[in-house]
Amino acid sequence: MDNRSRRIDLHLHTTHSDGSLPPAEVLALAQKAGVSALAITDHDILDGIPEAMEAGARLGIEVIPGIEISSRYEDAELHILGYYVDWKDPELQSRLTQLRASRHRRNPLIVAKLNELGLALTYQEVQELAGTESVGRPHIARVLMEKGYVQSAKEAFTRYLADGAPAYVPRELPGPAEAIAWIRAARGVPVLAHPVWAKQNEAGLLRLCEELKAHGLMGIEVHYSTHKPQQTADYLNIAKRLDLLITGGSDFHGVTKPDIEVGIGRGNLKVPEKLLEPLKKAAAAF
Ligand SMILES: [Zn+2]
Ligand SMILES: [Zn+2]
Repeated sequence: MDNRSRRIDLHLHTTHSDGSLPPAEVLALAQKAGVSALAITDHDILDGIPEAMEAGARLGIEVIPGIEISSRYEDAELHILGYYVDWKDPELQSRLTQLRASRHRRNPLIVAKLNELGLALTYQEVQELAGTESVGRPHIARVLMEKGYVQSAKEAFTRYLADGAPAYVPRELPGPAEAIAWIRAARGVPVLAHPVWAKQNEAGLLRLCEELKAHGLMGIEVHYSTHKPQQTADYLNIAKRLDLLITGGSDFHGVTKPDIEVGIGRGNLKVPEKLLEPLKKAAAAF
């Protein structure tokens, strides 16, 4: 394949969190899509990285160790991606274990609310389907799909699981400054994921990124499957004004987001390979 046409994908989920495919299968799809480098960024867990690296070595795809940590900022949930984290770092591992414990406290409460609404399922069924320590709402959505209560994960969220829906239970989350500090402590590069979630206009987001940069934020996810062209342009502008690294990825999950493909999102995503070098340099500077 022509080098100039190669793409990267720095935001992917596997069965180690709420994705539906194991790392090796995600890598196989990446190869088909012409992806030269990718980052596995499972929620609150690093367990998928060794398998991804092994598959990457076999397929000639560079694998960047990554993580995605959820945080709360006012009424919004901000996700912080961490690239080139030292995935064996015991301090980061123990923080992630605590984050997963907060998921295990929350999930049974969601299941209890669903039971009250007349839907028959148990948390054990959810855990069995998930088969990982990082259990989340998308796994609950999949159980609801399998039982025929909903047709899609999207419907499960809209009717039951989303913020404001009848089975919603808030989760204890760190602040974004904490998530950034944890990633930096493990020598990773912290990046604000899908900035559209911040629920800010361009000026508000600029201020927010400025504040997070003071806490150690180093980049912003400019390219993303569901960003509209104007949003991509706005985020690019913010990255340039604040001298933040530019990243991008599909946020592939498999069956829970069936319209999003590895490397190409909804068909409109192409994260250029040239974005990798500055990211790598930033990580190497630690
Ligand atoms: Zn996210
Ligand atoms: Zn994600």
